[in-house]
Amino acid sequence: MRGWTLGSGSSGNAIVLECGASRILIDCGFGPRAIAVRLRTLGIAPESISALLMTHEHIDHAQGAERAQKKYRWPVYASAGTLLALPDIEARWRRPIAPGVPVAIDGFTIEAIAVPHDAASCFAFTVTAAGSGARVGVAHDLGAVPDELYGSFARCDALLLEANHDAEMLRTGPYTPALQERVRGGRGHLSNAQGAALAASVTHPGLRAISLLHLSAVNNTPELAEQAVTAAVRRAGFARPVLAAPRREPRLAFAL
Ligand SMILES: [Zn+2]
Ligand SMILES: [Zn+2]
Repeated sequence: MRGWTLGSGSSGNAIVLECGASRILIDCGFGPRAIAVRLRTLGIAPESISALLMTHEHIDHAQGAERAQKKYRWPVYASAGTLLALPDIEARWRRPIAPGVPVAIDGFTIEAIAVPHDAASCFAFTVTAAGSGARVGVAHDLGAVPDELYGSFARCDALLLEANHDAEMLRTGPYTPALQERVRGGRGHLSNAQGAALAASVTHPGLRAISLLHLSAVNNTPELAEQAVTAAVRRAGFARPVLAAPRREPRLAFAL
C-alpha cells in the first residue's frame, strides 16, 4: 500500500491511498479540476478512484466533494451527520458508515473512529489492505484523542496524524482569544505536543512511517511540528524521519 497527501491544512486536504490497482480518496478539499491535476501529477486518473471517504464536512475537506463526486461518480462513505451536510450527493451514492463497523471497499477494509471536532460528526480512519494486511491510520481535525483511537492506531504500519499548532505560537499569535480557544479546545485541533503524545503512545517496532497533517500556516512551522513529534517518537524507539505534509503540493507519505 502507498499513500500520498495531495495538500494539507486550512487551504485544502485530501489523501489518496493505493493498493495494487485499487485507490480510495480521503477528503476532497480541492475543486474538481484541482484534485484531478494533483492526482494526475501522481499518475493517477480520477476515474480510477473507487470511493471517497469523508472525515467531516468542513470546507477545507469538502470543498470539491460534491462536484467531484458528481463528475467521477464516486460512492461517498461518511458518517450520517457528514452526509447530511453534503446535500448535493444523490441518495444512490451515499454510504453511511458507523464507528467500529468495518467496511470492505475494493481491496481495502475501512474502520471509522469518532473523534471530537466542531463539525456535524468527525471520523478518523484505519485503512487495511485486504491482501497484505498493511494498515494505515489517518486522523486530522480532532480536539482530543478518544480512548478508542489509541487501540485502533496501535497496530498501524503507517500513521498520518494532525499536528496543527505550536501552543506558544497560538498563544502569542494574531488569533483573537475566542478563536484561540476554539483551536485549542476539546473540539478543535491537536497541538504539536498532543500529536507527539499520540504518536509516541502508538509507536511499536513494526511502525514504518509517520506523516504530520493539517499544520497551521499562522501558528506552526514544519520544523516545530517535526521536532516535537520526532523527539517524542525517538524516545519510544521510532528511528525514521517524521515529515510534515506540504500545504499545497502532493507528497508521498508512505510506501509499505
Ligand atoms: Zn480541517
Ligand atoms: Zn475541521
